[in-house]
Amino acid sequence: MSMPDAMPLPGVGEELKQAKEIEDAEKYSFMATVTKAPKKQIQFADDMQEFTKFPTKTGRRSLSRSISQSSTDSYSSAASYTDSSDDEVSPREKQQTNSKGSSNFCVKNIKQAEFGRREIEIAEQDMSALISLRKRAQGEKPLAGAKIVGCTHITAQTAVLIETLCALGAQCRWSACNIYSTQNEVAAALAEAGVAVFAWKGESEDDFWWCIDRCVNMDGWQANMILDDGGDLTHWVYKKYPNVFKKIRGIVEESVTGVHRLYQLSKAGKLCVPAMNVNDSVTKQKFDNLYCCRESILDGLKRTTDMMFGGKQVVVCGYGEVGKGCCAALKALGAIVYITEIDPICALQACMDGFRVVKLNEVIRQVDVVITCTGNKNVVTREHLDRMKNSCIVCNMGHSNTEIDVTSLRTPELTWERVRSQVDHVIWPDGKRVVLLAEGRLLNLSCSTVPTFVLSITATTQALALIELYNAPEGRYKQDVYLLPKKMDEYVASLHLPSFDAHLTELTDDQAKYLGLNKNGPFKPNYYRY
Ligand code: NAD
Repeated sequence: MSMPDAMPLPGVGEELKQAKEIEDAEKYSFMATVTKAPKKQIQFADDMQEFTKFPTKTGRRSLSRSISQSSTDSYSSAASYTDSSDDEVSPREKQQTNSKGSSNFCVKNIKQAEFGRREIEIAEQDMSALISLRKRAQGEKPLAGAKIVGCTHITAQTAVLIETLCALGAQCRWSACNIYSTQNEVAAALAEAGVAVFAWKGESEDDFWWCIDRCVNMDGWQANMILDDGGDLTHWVYKKYPNVFKKIRGIVEESVTGVHRLYQLSKAGKLCVPAMNVNDSVTKQKFDNLYCCRESILDGLKRTTDMMFGGKQVVVCGYGEVGKGCCAALKALGAIVYITEIDPICALQACMDGFRVVKLNEVIRQVDVVITCTGNKNVVTREHLDRMKNSCIVCNMGHSNTEIDVTSLRTPELTWERVRSQVDHVIWPDGKRVVLLAEGRLLNLSCSTVPTFVLSITATTQALALIELYNAPEGRYKQDVYLLPKKMDEYVASLHLPSFDAHLTELTDDQAKYLGLNKNGPFKPNYYRY
């Protein structure tokens, strides 16, 4: 099986002839702003508090098997060596050095590096496309001179990304975008390998910002690229070190939330560098959101509740990419699935896929499980929760913990009983129990694993976005938010095809002429929806 060699690494070592694409991308990025603007405006908070009051904010994807367990878990992941209880001394108080004598990091325990290395190697097995990009491009070093400050989940999969960026010539300083998601042993392995990583599982909110600050604020080192997941790092730089933007060539942002923040900045005329919206890349949205959730929703529900799905009545709120993935998995196991939607197009898709589209009120008394995946707020209200039947399971697959009005359950007449890690029984005065998972936070990222392979697709997209922004000639990108050029999306996909021994058909000259396409792509216009 050969790699699709006909497809060169776009943008590296050659001038991309993509002015038109960029123009289209601009149009599309504008369209994306218009069409995907959330009901609730997500804005930069003026004070840090607003950023920190949801410490479990997750950027949707990059978590691995070990992050689901908090230090208070009753069971631990067999695959993780993270030990949050080894001592209570804050990493900030510890003096640690790696085997080369460097102390340019702050992790829980550098001695866990060997275990972390093993986790990274396991992740590499299923991230062959990213490794292949690493091998193909490391001769050219397309990121030579890049100084990337990153803020993402720190897991085995993101470690593969970080080490790829280093192999391509970048220097990296990294913090975690979530206070719970760091795999301590992986952070240790990165620190041992020389990456300046500042992160540990169970950071306080103060630690969280301290770690970001340590990455940005370093004598003799100034970042020229940002890789963010959620926008907190970008926000910190804007608030504390605006001068850093004079050197920044671009921001690559992965999450819905972070992207909306960028669009807000852009609208306000405050975005002072180009930014790449990776979230809306086809290779992110159509894979991470859909397939990742299809693969992980059942895992999250099973691990927390041991439930059987056959014949169970489930209502899924939102039939976007995430909803479609969840529904496909639930249907396959014989669950009876209802959908709620606000958008007639998605509602019609749900109908055509064989689901009943209902209002939540119509089914709330009868369903066994309620799953939210709208990206919206207060989709499940206290009124809904009051009307649910005994033992109804309620959980969220959307980005933030606003979809279920969990706060409304913190009232004196209701009793909360923690029955398992990430599982609360909320008990009404008449004895009715509602089973709330992960306190309304992302179920799959909180309670299960997410597939490494999908993360490889996203990570490869991120790496290419960084390469593109870093190498783009002046003027190609302005101070705006862009989508990755289509050709790069296609390249990311092509790198992942060999894993399936998939054989692409090549256009004949005649066919290419007939369709008006270049034989090497792009194969679809930017408005194509897949
Ligand atoms: P999407 O925009 O494709 O789908 C959301 C759907 O919800 C839309 O069709 C919208 O019309 C519908 N909706 C909005 N408000 C609603 C309401 N009140 N009632 C019913 N339906 C409503 O977005 P997506 O890609 O499916 O992502 C959804 C959320 O999941 C986002 O918050 C995203 O960040 C998150 N996400 C989670 C994961 C994960 O691993 N759990 C992965 C990717 C994305």
